[in-house]
Amino acid sequence: MTRSTYRFVDMTIGPDLDAEPYTARATCATCGEQSPQPTAEGPTGQHSQAQRWCRTHAAIDHPGGRHLHYTATITYGWLITPAEDIGPAAEYEPGG
Ligand SMILES: [Zn+2]
Repeated sequence: MTRSTYRFVDMTIGPDLDAEPYTARATCATCGEQSPQPTAEGPTGQHSQAQRWCRTHAAIDHPGGRHLHYTATITYGWLITPAEDIGPAAEYEPGG
């Protein structure tokens, strides 16, 4: 059995400016179709685009009936900043 010593290190978390940009998309829970990659910048415009796609998709007369259930997927990066050195960071590739 090995023994380890632990210590607490303060860490802050905030937006990761190196990560992929904020993205809001919708997925139809019935057929799995996904709204297109948003062209609007910012959450409000992207949410509007995704919701508009949901309404359009729900208006289609699908063979088995209307598709009324959707999942919203919001993607954005967070970055941890330790208050002191806790060792080297792993290599990071945005979107990878
Ligand atoms: Zn669908």
